[in-house]
Amino acid sequence: MKNYWLYLEPFTFVFSRDNKTLIYNSISFRCKTFTVSSDKLRDIFSGLNDPVNLYCIEISEEAIKDKEIEVFIRFIKKSFSGDFIEVSEVRKKPIIFPPVPKFPKRMTGSKLEIKRTSSIEIPSLLNELFLYVGGNNPSSNLKNIQVFKQFDYCTDTNGKFLLFADIKKLLNSNIIKQLQYLNILGGDIFTYPDLGILLKELSNYDFITRIYSMYKDIPEVFDIFSSSLNSRFILKVLIDFPADYQNLERTITMLKRENVNVELLFAIKSLSEYRESLTFKEKYKFCRCEINPVFTGDNLDFFKKYVFLSEKDLKKIRLGHNQIFLNQALNAFYFGKLRILHNSKVYSDLNKQSIGDIKTPLIDMLFYEMDNRLSWFNIRDQGPCNNCIYQWLCPPPSGYEQVLAKTNLCTVVSD
Ligand code: SF4
Repeated sequence: MKNYWLYLEPFTFVFSRDNKTLIYNSISFRCKTFTVSSDKLRDIFSGLNDPVNLYCIEISEEAIKDKEIEVFIRFIKKSFSGDFIEVSEVRKKPIIFPPVPKFPKRMTGSKLEIKRTSSIEIPSLLNELFLYVGGNNPSSNLKNIQVFKQFDYCTDTNGKFLLFADIKKLLNSNIIKQLQYLNILGGDIFTYPDLGILLKELSNYDFITRIYSMYKDIPEVFDIFSSSLNSRFILKVLIDFPADYQNLERTITMLKRENVNVELLFAIKSLSEYRESLTFKEKYKFCRCEINPVFTGDNLDFFKKYVFLSEKDLKKIRLGHNQIFLNQALNAFYFGKLRILHNSKVYSDLNKQSIGDIKTPLIDMLFYEMDNRLSWFNIRDQGPCNNCIYQWLCPPPSGYEQVLAKTNLCTVVSD
């Protein structure tokens, strides 16, 4: 009887939980779920998952003919995820390195290691800062909903604001020089008393500055960028519903005429608002456009039907191996970002405790976050996700999970 080496390619992932195994090819993005009912197939998956075997196990001719195993082999061959060869045809067992992340251990290691090895690296991890500078309350229809805890959005600041002197001091930190993005949000940022000098100051930096404003708060005569406007400034126009289309169209036409870099962000609560956004998106193709759902407390059905991921959605996910490794190590929604509210408090996640205030040295807050892992390393390692084959394919936990008080936003595992 012949024997075979059964192997998987190094870009193929095997995720096994209980009696389910997901085979995922991180190049072709083909995947298949197997419900394991026989010991023979279970042994094959546990053999392939055992690091000692280096993604290659020996199986008999008889095993290959087993119905369940045959389906598995057909899939890996057809999707170029693996293959089998006769043992007698090769001199040595094939050695394949299974996909494992190569993050420096100090990034995910102990507190002591972080302190000892990363005083040079940690400052470079800060990539994006959000300054909720304050001002009058924004002209949003989403009053009483803390949208900014779900995604970045202007919020009521009741006339309070950050002092320009404090912002200037913060900008003087060496760490700021490495930022890629700085985001300014209100309140209504056009009522922030020091907006002019702030924008002038920001024009001296290399990072991209995004300014968030409700469309209704954008002045009819738009001259705030006149001294500092360049390709590094973006105006992010926030739109919620019901929308005043005349006002919105007039505003976007004016911004286009003034050559402002515009991005649109629609905050939707329902399917009909989603459809309205799509019509607008189509009309203003020249703008980058985001459509974000807002949880109001009353639209859970909308979320369950249209926002929660289904198994069908997950099977369409296209993640390369590096993105999977990232999901295993850190939270891409939060990593490298800090948010400063109009009351001066600083957060790595606006749903968690504050990690300092605007006067706290940035380096201290970065070490605090690395030590306490409030959000940057908040990965899907809690139940039910830690017992799910899609654990590392799902996007990392976001503000939605916290606002909905759920750890999983999917229909794969129900409450
Ligand atoms: S959210 Fe969690 S439980 Fe749901 S599919 Fe993703 S990993 Fe699985």
